[in-house]
Amino acid sequence: MRGWMVAGNWKMNNMVSEAVNLSKSVKEGTEGIKGGEVVLSPPFTALHAVYETIKGSHVTLAAQNMFYEEKGAYTGEVSAAMIKDIGCTYVIIGHSERRKYFGETDEWVNLKAKKSLAVGLKPIICVGETDDERGKGVTEFVVGIQVKKALNGIDNMGNIVIAYEPVWAIGTGKNATPAEAEDVHRFIRNILGDMYGDACKNVKILYGGSVTHQNISDLIEMEDIDGALVGGASLKSEEFVGIIRKVSEKR
Ligand code: PEP
Repeated sequence: MRGWMVAGNWKMNNMVSEAVNLSKSVKEGTEGIKGGEVVLSPPFTALHAVYETIKGSHVTLAAQNMFYEEKGAYTGEVSAAMIKDIGCTYVIIGHSERRKYFGETDEWVNLKAKKSLAVGLKPIICVGETDDERGKGVTEFVVGIQVKKALNGIDNMGNIVIAYEPVWAIGTGKNATPAEAEDVHRFIRNILGDMYGDACKNVKILYGGSVTHQNISDLIEMEDIDGALVGGASLKSEEFVGIIRKVSEKR
């Protein structure tokens, strides 16, 4: 039984007071929900305040990024151990916005994934093709390389979550159809099967890209979609709670 997960990626949004209010409403709105995990990913500046708001509850915390070196002269960076120390259970790695605006490569994603696991943080590794790549029919080729490179040299998948996020669907309102998403999720699960055998059966694969409380119902019906990584819709508590409730009802 894989269980479900819904993670809210707040990106570069929310001052500390807003973050506290939003996390409080999400916590209260999802009280008693069973069979899955609710994760919030505020910006670094709000991690501590959100941790204090949700600690001891069913909601867990994720950072949006980390650096793979342990410590030292890396101005502006935050280490995996620091993220763990502040109360995070998860860290998002390889989000397409980091790949696009900050030059994050598959090699860096791999180094970050390894480092996060080494300190006991669970990575949520994002992969996905661009509009152009989908148009050229190379979605599986691109996603396959991203997954294999991200996991290179990692022999235990147990603490890893994969998020399939087609770049053309992020923040655009154009989400993948359930069938399109399921095709890629199944493809990813097959790659994991080839790499790890039965050991990958419990690995969650989330869908991300313009998820709303309306379109989640059909997506979550798909066998290999175990939940969602939600951007824009995670900034409104009613909308986000609605998504979580629908996922928990259907799974
Ligand atoms: C994301 O940032 O991971 C994301 C999926 O964004 P949105 O839901 O806004 O498309």
